Amino acid sequence: MPTYEYKCTQEGTVFDVWQEVGSEAPPCPTCGAPTKKVFRPTRTIFKGSGFYLTDTRAEAGVGKSDAAPPTPPPAASDSKSD
Ligand SMILES: [Zn+2]
Repeated sequence: MPTYEYKCTQEGTVFDVWQEVGSEAPPCPTCGAPTKKVFRPTRTIFKGSGFYLTDTRAEAGVGKSDAAPPTPPPAASDSKSD
């Protein structure tokens, strides 16, 4: 579940809330006034979900396998000492 940051429209108090995507803004925990969602990149998203790491590793793997040829050259098996 992602963490959202909300700011109180009355006092400007900022607080974090863990909730589902698309949930409505909760009232201020201290005064009960309506709050507005604050958008900012949080490190919590990086740590919490492993999606980002998995994605990067998958891409790196594709690039590596492309650079190294998987099959050896056929000329090597052809050279026999007769
Ligand atoms: Zn408040």
